Amino acid sequence: MMIYADNAATTKMSRAAIEAMTACLEEEYGNPSSLYALGQRAKERLEQARGEIAAVIGADPGEITITSGGSEADNQALRTGAALGKRAGKTHIISTAFEHHAILHTLKRLEEEGFSVTLLPVHEDGLVRVEELEAAIREDTCLVSVMYANNEIGTIQPIREIGEICRKHGVLFHTDAVQAVGHVPIDVKDQNIDMLSSSAHKFHGPKGIGFLYARKGVRLVNLIEGGAQERGKRAGTENVAAAAAMAAALKETAGSMAETAPRLRALRDRLIAGLREIPHSALNGDAEKRLPGNVNFCFEGIEGESLLLLLDDRGICASSGSACTSGSLDPSHVLLAIGRVHDVAHGSLRLTLGEDATEEDVDYLIRNVKEVVEYLRGFSPIWRDLVQGKARFIL
Ligand SMILES: *Cc1c(COP(=O)(O)O)cnc(C)c1O
Repeated sequence: MMIYADNAATTKMSRAAIEAMTACLEEEYGNPSSLYALGQRAKERLEQARGEIAAVIGADPGEITITSGGSEADNQALRTGAALGKRAGKTHIISTAFEHHAILHTLKRLEEEGFSVTLLPVHEDGLVRVEELEAAIREDTCLVSVMYANNEIGTIQPIREIGEICRKHGVLFHTDAVQAVGHVPIDVKDQNIDMLSSSAHKFHGPKGIGFLYARKGVRLVNLIEGGAQERGKRAGTENVAAAAAMAAALKETAGSMAETAPRLRALRDRLIAGLREIPHSALNGDAEKRLPGNVNFCFEGIEGESLLLLLDDRGICASSGSACTSGSLDPSHVLLAIGRVHDVAHGSLRLTLGEDATEEDVDYLIRNVKEVVEYLRGFSPIWRDLVQGKARFIL
């Protein structure tokens, strides 16, 4: 038995994406900038992909810039907001404490370059408060960047309301929607989104490709100088095959969302109910305002790392948080941001279900997590102290 329950880290490429990719690699290998028919066919393939991507989020094709993935899109969006702000004498940026490191580390850089950054607190439910965002906006605020759905705890932010407030105050609004695109309905116009980042490998496309939506009128600054590809906003010969695969994956994942999301939500809730039976455990983040496949728990008195290794022995691919921080012993910045203390944050487990998950999979997950948690607690000195009353339970 092998259960892949780490779809927030990456997803398996879909059959449609692999087919689109190989067809391009074999046939449309021309350079889209070349004038002969082979090159122009590659260009058409690229523009078809751009159109299909744009349609899924309610954008115009000209508003989509293809990037190497979510991290690059995040970097470019923040650098754009910062540069446009600076030109207008505005150097204050608002974001949140639980963003992906592609955002947090870029903000650090911008701070070193003279920008000031306010990171909004995230409440225990894993949600930012719109009133707190509005109160944080200053005369010199140029950019707000709030992630659509968190990659660890899956909580979905009030994006339309945030966009409305930003528009009211004349502040650009960017959202890192890498976890959301293809999994929840998005309409950039209706939701007042100025810039949005996405990555193909989170919706069954290939790794190393993604896109940045920038509303018409928002002039992107480019991170990579060179040729005039992507309307001069992202130099380098286009990866047509990966772009075609990204579009094929997105069309399929987003197109089946109406059927898969309710099924996935039911499975998620079954998993949550099963894991809640484990004593001294807690779900991280709001139970409803979260991605259809996301489950994230803390179990008191255990180490997340040991839990993962023992689950791996039982054929379960899971995570303690984001792939970017695994391997380090620091607890997740996301769990700390929602107020979990260090010891509790260490005992975390993220299970993210894929569209093909079944009830049997979920029951296998519940049974095995229960057994492994109990086993680990059996020889944990921290757990012994808790049971003997030498330390106080938190959960
Ligand atoms: C995965 C992820 C990224 C990074 O995307 P890459 O394509 O891997 O660079 C950024 N933000 C969030 C929320 C993510 O989940």
